Amino acid sequence: MTDETWGNIRGELLKSVGKNNYSNWIEPLEFSDLADGVATFLVPTQFMGNWVSRNFGEQILQELSNAGASVSRVEFSVPQRTIAAKPKPVSKPVASTFNEGRDLPGAPLDARFTFDSFVVGKPNELAHAAARRVAEGGPVTFNPLFLYGGVGLGKTHLMHSIAWELQRREQGLRIVYLSAEQFMYRFVQALRDKDMIAFKQLFRSVDVLMIDDVQFIAGKDATQEEFFHTFNALVDQGKQIIVSSDRAPTEITGIEDRIVSRLQSGLVVDLHPTNYELRLGILQQKIDQYSEQFPNLEIADGVLEFLAHRISTNVRVLEGAMMRLFAFGSLVGREVTLELAQDCLSDILRHSDRKITVEEIQRKVSDHYNIRLSDLIGPKRVRTFARPRQVAMYLAKTMTSRSLPEIGRRFGGRDHTTIMHGVRKIEELKQQDSQIADDLELLRRSLEA
Ligand code: ADP
Ligand code: MG
Repeated sequence: MTDETWGNIRGELLKSVGKNNYSNWIEPLEFSDLADGVATFLVPTQFMGNWVSRNFGEQILQELSNAGASVSRVEFSVPQRTIAAKPKPVSKPVASTFNEGRDLPGAPLDARFTFDSFVVGKPNELAHAAARRVAEGGPVTFNPLFLYGGVGLGKTHLMHSIAWELQRREQGLRIVYLSAEQFMYRFVQALRDKDMIAFKQLFRSVDVLMIDDVQFIAGKDATQEEFFHTFNALVDQGKQIIVSSDRAPTEITGIEDRIVSRLQSGLVVDLHPTNYELRLGILQQKIDQYSEQFPNLEIADGVLEFLAHRISTNVRVLEGAMMRLFAFGSLVGREVTLELAQDCLSDILRHSDRKITVEEIQRKVSDHYNIRLSDLIGPKRVRTFARPRQVAMYLAKTMTSRSLPEIGRRFGGRDHTTIMHGVRKIEELKQQDSQIADDLELLRRSLEA
C-alpha cells in the first residue's frame, strides 16, 4: 500500500467518523508498513493506540479492504524510542508529527526565567538544587517535585528554568507548563465541547507536566478528579511532574486526601522568605542584567543595601522598585542616590514597612513545635496543641495590631476571652519557664527577620 492509497482511505474515514474524531484520532496516525496481512500504524502514545484500535480499528480495516489492500489485521505501535522502559523523552520527529495542526496545551515560558538569572541563597538553595536535579532529565528520581513558598519567592521562575533547561538538552521533549487555573479552564472547555477524550489524550501524552499554583484547584472537585487521573497516568509512565503551591500539601484545605498524599509522594521543598543577603544578591544581578537597558546609570554607595534592607516583602516588589528607580535615574541622567531612592519609592517603602500577619505567626509556631497548622488552630485541647496555640495567640497579640476578636476569628472562631486567657497564660509562663521564654525569643526573631 502506498502513502497515496492511505491518503485516499483517510478521505473515506473522514466521511465515516466525522471531522472531530478524524482530527483527533485518524489524522495523527502515521502509516508504517503492510506485511503478512498486518497493517501497522505509528501512534504517539499507547493510550492513543488502544483507543483507536478499540473504536476505529474495524472501520480502518474495512476501508483498507475496500481500497484493495489484502489486510486481515491493523496494529498500532508506538515508535521504539518512545517506549523505552526508562522514561526516555519522545524524540523529535514523533513530537512534531503529533503536534501537527495542534499545539501543546501549555502556557508560554518567560525568556528571563532561567537558571542563569536565578540567584541562589540560603532561603532557596534546596529548592534550587532540586530544580537543577530535575532539569538534568534522565530517569525520574522524585515524582512529583513539589515546590512551595510565599508569593514572589521564585516558584514560577524555577519552573520555567527547568523547562528551558530540559528543552535545551532535549529538543522536541513535550513539556507542558501551565497554571492550575489554566488546567481547569481547559478541562471545563473540553467538557463543554464534549471533547474529553482528546483532553485526556493530550495531557497523558506529555513528557513533563508542570502545574503552577496548584492550590487553585482546592474546592474544585471535578478538576481535582481529572488532575488526579492525569497525575497517576503520567507517574505510571515514569513522566516527570512538577507542581508548585503557595503552601505545603497538607495545608491546602479543600483538596482530597488521596491527592494530598500523591502530592507528597515525591520531594517536597519550600522556598523560605528572602533574607537580606539574597535580596542584595538579586539586586546586584539585576543591575548586570539591565545595564544595557539603562546605560550610564550611576548608583551611589549604599542604595542597593538600603533597598535590600527596606523592601523585604517579596522579590517581585523589590524588582519593581529597582526598575522604577533605574528608569528614573537613567531618564533624568542623575546619579541614583539614597535621597532619590527615598523620594522616588516613597509609596512602596511606606507599604513594605513590614507587617507581620497572624497567619504567618501560626505557620511559624506550628513549624517550630512540629505540629500541623490544622491542629494549632483546631479544637483539640491536649497540651501538645494547646500550649503552642497559646504561644501563637500571645505572639499575635503582641506582634500585630489585631484586636482580640479579630485574632479569635483567625483561631477557628474562638471567643475573645479565650484569646485573652491564652495571652495571660503565656505572660505568666514566660516568667517561670525558661523553655517557653526561649521559644518566644526564637520565634519573635525569626518572624522579624
Ligand atoms: P512566585 O511564582 O513564587 O510567586 P516568581 O517566580 O514569579 O514568584 O518571582 C517573582 C519575581 O522575582 C520574578 O521576576 C523572578 O524573576 C524574581 N525572582 C524571585 N526569586 C529570584 C531569585 N532567587 N533570583 C532572581 N530573581 C528572582
Ligand atoms: Mg508564580
